[in-house]
Amino acid sequence: MSKPESNQESLMETLIGLSKRRGFIFQGSEIYGGLAGTWDYGPLGVALKNNVKKIWWQRFVDGREDMYGVDAAILMNQRTWEASGHVAGFSDPLVECKKCHHRFRADQLDPELAAAKKCPDCGGALGDVKQFNMMFKTQIGAGEDSAAVSYLRPETAQGMFVNFKNILDSQHPKLPFGMAQIGKAFRNEIAPRDFIFRAREFEQMEIEYFVDPRDEKKVNETFDALFEEQQKFLTVLGLDPKKIHKIEVPASDRAHYSKRSVDTEYDFPFGQKELLGIAYRTDFDLKAHTTMSGVDLSYFDEETKTRFIPHCIEPTFGLDRLILAVLSNAYTEDDMGGEKRVFMKFAPAVAPVKIAVFPLLKNKPELIKKAREIYASLKKEFGAVEFDDNGNIGKRYRRQDEIGTPFCVTIDFDTIEKGEGVTIRHRDTGTQERVSEANLLDFLTKKMS
Ligand code: ATP
Repeated sequence: MSKPESNQESLMETLIGLSKRRGFIFQGSEIYGGLAGTWDYGPLGVALKNNVKKIWWQRFVDGREDMYGVDAAILMNQRTWEASGHVAGFSDPLVECKKCHHRFRADQLDPELAAAKKCPDCGGALGDVKQFNMMFKTQIGAGEDSAAVSYLRPETAQGMFVNFKNILDSQHPKLPFGMAQIGKAFRNEIAPRDFIFRAREFEQMEIEYFVDPRDEKKVNETFDALFEEQQKFLTVLGLDPKKIHKIEVPASDRAHYSKRSVDTEYDFPFGQKELLGIAYRTDFDLKAHTTMSGVDLSYFDEETKTRFIPHCIEPTFGLDRLILAVLSNAYTEDDMGGEKRVFMKFAPAVAPVKIAVFPLLKNKPELIKKAREIYASLKKEFGAVEFDDNGNIGKRYRRQDEIGTPFCVTIDFDTIEKGEGVTIRHRDTGTQERVSEANLLDFLTKKMS
């Protein structure tokens, strides 16, 4: 397992600073001193996140014939969480220091300190380990009795299982098929940390893929194929394959309902940690909801005229962890023209701004007019295009480098006086080339893909 190095720790500080300065991600409720474990995405962060979601939805839902999208409510009947086992068992081991009252996850303490029951912060004595349920409890409506209790969902998965019959009845799918959802999840983490890696409010992209359990070979092949799809998706995001690790989770570490789990870990600046996972959840969820709700969640196979409860394979993706992986993977420093340069090497598909358009000079109306014209036509085509006439060209390039804009287009006097096209400057190499106005759209479209 790779260990974080101190320059990697400072990379986290740099990323957090850059995220705030350039409008990717801010501390939640910052003007009130913040709220631990919450983060607000700014204009560039939300654009980056939307691009990742769009690619995911295209690959896993729109691009396939066997996937059904849903957007279920965050608040669900409390019995959902009784059936799923979350009320009884969704907890982490908690210890509290008797002196400073700081709380820690017992399983994340330094083993020596844990054995000595010593607080890592003040050296005081630690109390006994208690199980702490991570679901946020809330009250529905005006009633204060226990029947009015609900929870902010700790995962999006259950919103799909409870809609399984609705999908059967409204879409009439044949096995195998999947349901997919992108949405917020909430966990009252004992120790939120590492920026957006471990938050109390975060976003997941999950798939529940249902299969016929009788053909075990096919089930295993489907598991492997979905795992491969997860890996391809990471490549499309531009993540370095050398930093991605496949971990077969041993039975002792798996959830009790899982027959097989494979985690994908990533070399974050603070070490190799879980990015996403896939689990073979068998018929655990559909069976549990059938028992709890009294509603039959079985499937009738027309071909064999048999009725059974399908098994489920669940590929799950943490969106915020993906964003952190994309940010840390993209951060690059080099030397350009004798000066240190910082640039975000985003794949064009995820870059929050695709193109920046510059008139060479600010005070020449004919240059501004032409640049505005080109900007408008590119914006119509690519959406995320910026216009910038502020400061010298070098400074403008650096600003775009820092937010990862792959291409800058400059309009100068040769563009308007000689019809000699525009200058395209490439982010990663800093090289420039001249492209005719007529070919500009085509040229950029090819480069984007
Ligand atoms: P961990 O062991 O790191 O707490 P987990 O195994 O509990 O994670 P899952 O329950 O499998 O996580 O959740 C699915 C995905 O949701 C994870 O792979 C991760 O990407 C994401 N995720 C889970 N907890 C958090 C969190 N607190 N903040 C951000 N993302 C999270």
